[in-house]
Amino acid sequence: MDFLESKVQQLKTDGVYRELPVSETPCEAIITLNGKRVINLSSNNYLGFANHPRLKEKAIEAINHYGVGAGAVRTIVGNMDIHEKLDRKIAQFKKEEAALVFQSGFMCNVGVIQAVTDKGDLIISDALNHASIIDGVKLSKADKAIYKHSDMADLERILKEKRHLYHQVLIITDGVFSMDGDIAKLPEIVRLAKQYKALTYVDDAHGSGVLGESGRGTVDHFHLHGQVDFIIGTLSKAIGVVGGYVAGSLAMKQYLLHRGRPLLFSTSLMPSAAAAIIEAFTMLEESTSYTEKLWDNSRYLKAKLKEKGFDIGHSETPITPVMIGDESKTMAFSKALLQHGVYVSGIVFPTVPKGYGRIRIMVSALHEKKDLDQAVDILYHTAKSMQIL
Ligand SMILES: *Cc1c(COP(=O)(O)O)cnc(C)c1O
Repeated sequence: MDFLESKVQQLKTDGVYRELPVSETPCEAIITLNGKRVINLSSNNYLGFANHPRLKEKAIEAINHYGVGAGAVRTIVGNMDIHEKLDRKIAQFKKEEAALVFQSGFMCNVGVIQAVTDKGDLIISDALNHASIIDGVKLSKADKAIYKHSDMADLERILKEKRHLYHQVLIITDGVFSMDGDIAKLPEIVRLAKQYKALTYVDDAHGSGVLGESGRGTVDHFHLHGQVDFIIGTLSKAIGVVGGYVAGSLAMKQYLLHRGRPLLFSTSLMPSAAAAIIEAFTMLEESTSYTEKLWDNSRYLKAKLKEKGFDIGHSETPITPVMIGDESKTMAFSKALLQHGVYVSGIVFPTVPKGYGRIRIMVSALHEKKDLDQAVDILYHTAKSMQIL
């Protein structure tokens, strides 16, 4: 194992080696991390559903009714009525013909992209797409092209040069980019896709539960229902549980039930997860108060950070990066913040390009204004003492 030991040593030399933080509490605004009470500004639990009493009650009921495991993959005997109900619930919420649940958003990308593309096809992918898209694309037999991040001229250049050489062309983008918080230029992407007869694929992991009416996502935000072919979402971020899904046409679902490898070869979601998720969507249908609180907190925090002079990039969503640049300085800042009572994770290569280190603040509907005030205070004083500001 010398070769791995020397790689680990290199991480340490670069100042980016880290131990995993350990939380002893549910995912709330204040958590106990490594034995210390801290303000949690790092979770994807946008709406506070991860520890919500209504979701927990449904999960417990489902455990009592179905047990803890589904017992098989969906295509054999692991397809319980609660999984079917969840598929229907998501299709209805997303206003699509059909939806199909996977075990995670990652699995969904890895399974869907390779299944719906083939030799002779071309995948055109945004340069900042999520790792699970990159891995999904790697597993596809199609050719690949990358367009500069959200650069519609570059996307059109590729379409112009290459469209005629391929059978199907699939344009893939994140709905909301997870490291910068900017929103994909979906109306233009859809327009180009129509013009060049390409298919569209949006991974809306950070848009679902956040953007659009009651958190219906980026497609809803831009009023593009029926115009995006594959809409991917996660059930582990705003929805607070675990799982992923693809929404779109019935034919897509029927095909994926035969060729979506994670569905065929990996056990289906825990029934308790399915039950909790259904309740989460019901709550979003009932009330916009969760998404409103999230956006209110997000606007409040961003204004405060700007006022203090932080560079918060060009986020359009609750994802709030604070740009630092240098990798080891980023990690040192995150560590110092933790010591002072705020947990904000440092994000460095390979998650973002080298030299683009940042801490990423994830605000949620759970935070009170006083938590945010206190956090900004700590960020400011720590940054001053480290010559970041
Ligand atoms: C988080 C994320 C995923 C993975 O979702 P999981 O359900 O956690 O596996 C996929 N795509 C994007 C864009 C993400 O941000």
